[in-house]
Amino acid sequence: MALDESQEPNQLHFLFVPMGSPGHYIPTIDMAKLLAQHGGVRVSIVTTPVNALRFGSILDQPIQSGLPISFLEFPFSYKEFGLPEGCESIDDLPNMGLAGALMQAYASLQKQVEEYIEKLDRRPDCILADTFLLWPSETAKKFRIPRVMFDGMNCITQMCNHVLYLSKVYETVGESESFVLPGLPDRIELRRTQLPFAFTLNNKTMSEFNEKLRVSEAEAYGVVVNSFEELEQDYVDEYQKVRDKVYCIGPLSLCQKDESENIQRGNKSSINKHECIKWLDSRENGSVIYACLGSISRIEPAQLIELGLALEASKRPFIWVVRAGHKTEKIEKWIDEEGFEERTKDRGLVIRGWAPQLLVLSHPAIGGFLTHCGWNSTLEGISAGVPLVTWPQFQEQFYNEKLVVQVLRTGVSVGVTKTVFWGNEVESGVVVKSDEFIKAIEMIMEKGIEGDERRKRAKQLSKIANKALEEGGSSQRNITRLIQDIRIQSSFK
Ligand code: UDP
Repeated sequence: MALDESQEPNQLHFLFVPMGSPGHYIPTIDMAKLLAQHGGVRVSIVTTPVNALRFGSILDQPIQSGLPISFLEFPFSYKEFGLPEGCESIDDLPNMGLAGALMQAYASLQKQVEEYIEKLDRRPDCILADTFLLWPSETAKKFRIPRVMFDGMNCITQMCNHVLYLSKVYETVGESESFVLPGLPDRIELRRTQLPFAFTLNNKTMSEFNEKLRVSEAEAYGVVVNSFEELEQDYVDEYQKVRDKVYCIGPLSLCQKDESENIQRGNKSSINKHECIKWLDSRENGSVIYACLGSISRIEPAQLIELGLALEASKRPFIWVVRAGHKTEKIEKWIDEEGFEERTKDRGLVIRGWAPQLLVLSHPAIGGFLTHCGWNSTLEGISAGVPLVTWPQFQEQFYNEKLVVQVLRTGVSVGVTKTVFWGNEVESGVVVKSDEFIKAIEMIMEKGIEGDERRKRAKQLSKIANKALEEGGSSQRNITRLIQDIRIQSSFK
């Protein structure tokens, strides 16, 4: 990738530092596009060889059309940290035990990035870095550059974590007892078993990391959030009370200007675009269930089979994305050799690997999205105006479920009460039975008053989401505010 250092005198330079995971990389690249499209800004994205190849294609077209974005590619130390060659992303890790090594390899980029900054005639005006990378905080301080954080989540998550951290209420309840998170705008009730690992894993490394994270968060100049104010206004307001400079600039996925950009997102799609559209075009509007569980969860074959059985029993058209990963053979055997695909071939499409999710969600045939509640997927579903079946796995996904099902009332939960521990899914066993999936799918697809109302709310939210990024919309205004604030900071240099 070319290292483009050309900069107009009045142009601000944002240096982006993403973390290796599709759920963080994809929105970071969308954000680069949004800022560069806004004008007066050029963006350089710190990247590594495989990530550049993997995610770079999203930017080919925008760069060709003259958007001032470039990749700064640095070598990645696989061997030194015991990572398999080419492993630069969480979804590529052979096991969760190597997550620490991956973080260390990312930390080793600090020296190279600082050497790059030192060589520049003019320092970047802003470092926009992933919250989970701690070193950009030191780099920003060293070069006196304002740092803006991005963690890929929303304001309800920030507030749930905040009140839990302050109140420690979860320490006073039993494992599976539900309790109300204190001081939030809605009555959010959760069990201890549904909380992010930061509150449940009692180990020294995790506690130390969380402490450093909190310090780094407090020191940041501001935070950009992939959300829009109208979606969670009460939580945006609360978050602004606890921290300065919150910029909701989403939904980031809506930065795509045309359909061709929808297909080029993240990995190469495992299905031909025309084949996918042809299949969708042949279905009635609002009739298809789309089931996709993000990029990093590694659901056990026995659990996936329960989902497959539910899709089969629903008798409705469906698209099921089965991610290639470990244990693929077992699930493939069930889908192929044991006849699932044959039995459902008249109404089912199995995508093995990577789906063109935005393209699928934006098609009028889609009537429901069964999601693991990763924030990107959740927001993409909301932006497309599709009601959701929520099946959270871990981390903040349970908060996202609460937002969708309880606050926005555009989703139906399959009813999970326990996180699945990533890397140890076998122990979690089968958490959701096919009957529970069937119940939630039926509720989301039913044509009665309740379903109609839910669909109406979902469509309305989609309209508001799209408006947020139009000229004069709340997210556009926040992008302008972010750029203006950085310009003011820059003038003090
Ligand atoms: N995604 C996709 N196709 C797939 C799986 C995932 O395009 O087959 C994209 C999805 O659109 C989203 C991201 O990958 O932008 C996943 O992020 P999310 O926060 O939903 O979940 P995570 O993978 O981080 O758990």
